[in-house]
Amino acid sequence: MKILLIVIDGLGDRAIAQLGNKTPLAAARTPNLDYLAKNGICGLLKVKFQGATPTSEEAHFSLFGYNPERYKIKRGIITATGAGIKAQKGDVALRGNFATVDKNFNIIDRRAGRIKSPEPLIESLRGIKIKGVRFLLKSATEHRLGIIMRGRGLSPNISDGDPFYGKLGKRARKIKPFDKTQKAAFTARVLNEFLEKAHQSLREHPFNKKREKQGLPPANYILVRGASSLPQLPSFKEKYSLKACCIAGKFLYQQIGKILGMDLIKVRGANGKPNTNLKGKFKAARKALKRYNFVFLHIKATDTLAEDGNFLGKKEFIEKIDKNLKPILKLKDTPIVVTADHSTCCALKRHCSEPVPLLIYGKGKDGIEEFSERACQKGKLGKFEQLKLMDRILKPYPHYQVSGVGVYKN
Ligand code: ZN
Repeated sequence: MKILLIVIDGLGDRAIAQLGNKTPLAAARTPNLDYLAKNGICGLLKVKFQGATPTSEEAHFSLFGYNPERYKIKRGIITATGAGIKAQKGDVALRGNFATVDKNFNIIDRRAGRIKSPEPLIESLRGIKIKGVRFLLKSATEHRLGIIMRGRGLSPNISDGDPFYGKLGKRARKIKPFDKTQKAAFTARVLNEFLEKAHQSLREHPFNKKREKQGLPPANYILVRGASSLPQLPSFKEKYSLKACCIAGKFLYQQIGKILGMDLIKVRGANGKPNTNLKGKFKAARKALKRYNFVFLHIKATDTLAEDGNFLGKKEFIEKIDKNLKPILKLKDTPIVVTADHSTCCALKRHCSEPVPLLIYGKGKDGIEEFSERACQKGKLGKFEQLKLMDRILKPYPHYQVSGVGVYKN
């Protein structure tokens, strides 16, 4: 069995007046995606999320059939393992951002001017031990870092220090325990102490003094989030008996693939940006299908363009994806699945909860003429949970009719 899953990040959207009341996907000229929809079956996926808005990592694990709630998958463990720290049972992992704060801990810059090469700062924080808990730190590109707390009696049930773009205020927040256990209280206390110590040390660091002289924001604080422990989950191979690989330009998606035991295929020029090497990625996918049963191909820029509110850019990038789909259309006996992890609404400049369009090519037809949010509403697959996608892909098409999945009526 061969399957190609193309995840176009943040593809779904709301209608935009300037696009003639169409979404960027509906407004884009996409003959190849339309061909796949016309010769495939369509539907809408309900996105799984626990917080205020969907996150890419939760949504991806859900797409692959892993319930993020059950496995407690959060950004911390993804970033830390991705940065190359080997997590152990009992560890608590965090995602950190080097940030700039004033003396009242008001956040001036969440990313300390997207600081490049903060290694000297990370080096200066290594080896800090508080109440028997060691802190392991590694750079995870630019301002990001992976942090692991290692010691006895730790719990991932603690709050974030990052207030996220002012949604929770503009000040860096103290870490609080989420439950009444001693472990959570201890973890929060130790982490607060570490953050305070780190702040004092970073503030005085010559690297930051130099930045200040150059008029650059000093990286004098670490905003942490996504506390999590090592998830105990079956690999993709164990779960589905499929040999899988991942083609993604961005670190996060490569790490998601890695956590699921997928092989990583690197493509030159695949950078997760609008100028990414789409042609190279699709070519690599076609080649990889000779050796793998399942190819996960991730495309990022739709999401980032929408987060910038750039609806025209998003529409044009979708057209670019479509143009590069040609080599894929010639694949034989390979179901092709095209969908998104979540919607990203240009009007809101953030991830949003709208269901995402889905097409499965190679498993029958349902008379849908084009690939858009609206057209997919009427598709035979109906509207269903992201977590069920893998089941739908793997089971033969007639099954769905028997299982009573109806047409989604709005
Ligand atoms: Zn995403």
